[in-house]
Amino acid sequence: MVTKAYGAYAADKPLEPIDIARRPPGPHDVAINIAYCGVCHSDLHTVRSEWQGTLYPCVPGHEIVGHVTAVGSEVTGFKVGDTVGVGCLVDSCQHCASCAEGLEQFCEKGWTGTYNSPTRDRPGHTLGGYSQGIVVSDRFVLAIRHPEEQLAAVAPLLCAGITTYSPLHHWKAGPGKKVGIVGIGGLGHMGIKIAHAMGAHTVAFTTSESKREDALKLGADEVIISRTPEAMTQHAGSFDFILDTVGASHNLDAYTRLLKRDGTLCLVGVPGHPHPAPDVFTLIFGRKAIAGSLIGGIRETQEMLDFCAEKGIVADIEMITAQEIDEAYDRMVKSDVKYRFVIDIASLGA
Ligand SMILES: [Zn+2]
Ligand SMILES: [Zn+2]
Repeated sequence: MVTKAYGAYAADKPLEPIDIARRPPGPHDVAINIAYCGVCHSDLHTVRSEWQGTLYPCVPGHEIVGHVTAVGSEVTGFKVGDTVGVGCLVDSCQHCASCAEGLEQFCEKGWTGTYNSPTRDRPGHTLGGYSQGIVVSDRFVLAIRHPEEQLAAVAPLLCAGITTYSPLHHWKAGPGKKVGIVGIGGLGHMGIKIAHAMGAHTVAFTTSESKREDALKLGADEVIISRTPEAMTQHAGSFDFILDTVGASHNLDAYTRLLKRDGTLCLVGVPGHPHPAPDVFTLIFGRKAIAGSLIGGIRETQEMLDFCAEKGIVADIEMITAQEIDEAYDRMVKSDVKYRFVIDIASLGA
């Protein structure tokens, strides 16, 4: 099946219309007509080859929502017309200890990403959601239970949503817990909404006073301007958990000092240059941990989507056409988006 897509042929080339082939659905496959695709920072890093190893042509996109157009003979969980999503993963070994626990994102044999991962399908690597259609194994398809009119704003939950939900859930954000979210961007704005909905006392950290009102509107109970040392000192030793979504190198001690005994600072942003080494004294005097977290498994992603549907949570988005994608990337680099771009895939047919 030939599908219209938007992708790049080289790191220094803009994205352009490109025809790609999708495999005919096999017995366990679901064919999806894509309605919207969110734009993640990983898309930009991959398509511009900032992380090395980009395979071209590159069609990014792993915040996919749409409708089922065909299912294979063995598929029982989905039928034609269902509203579904696909996130960052489209395959894993299904046999290792991590897969057995539903933690496909830690598959010991290496999982298959929705784009830029080796696959048997042409052209030899996966092509993502900046396209009109995709064919995915039913084990990696998610059911979407939000109202249809919210569909575009659901798309970013598939990466930004699960990237923040998974660590908040794992470290038990909830009533009686004081939880910090560092950075108010694509990830951070979801982190604030989700931590608040989980019932945690949610504190947003930002470097800019201008974001205070926005953070409160997103659901923060308090906002701390991280550039103000007195504001930081006041909260020393008081946090159970801090989720750091910042993708630039910064001093982690500023946050480990704010943790209670046994508190955890969890990193989900990947800096282009390493963070300065953390101060060990701050960690050992309080048995504090610095941890990392990577998206979430399929079972947990479904749980997150259902939680967000129940709580009425979607991303704050700005809709764009496929033709506007390079301009959108340039604005993302400047953090000039509230808070996630989503591509209207109908524009690919224009
Ligand atoms: Zn992503
Ligand atoms: Zn595995």
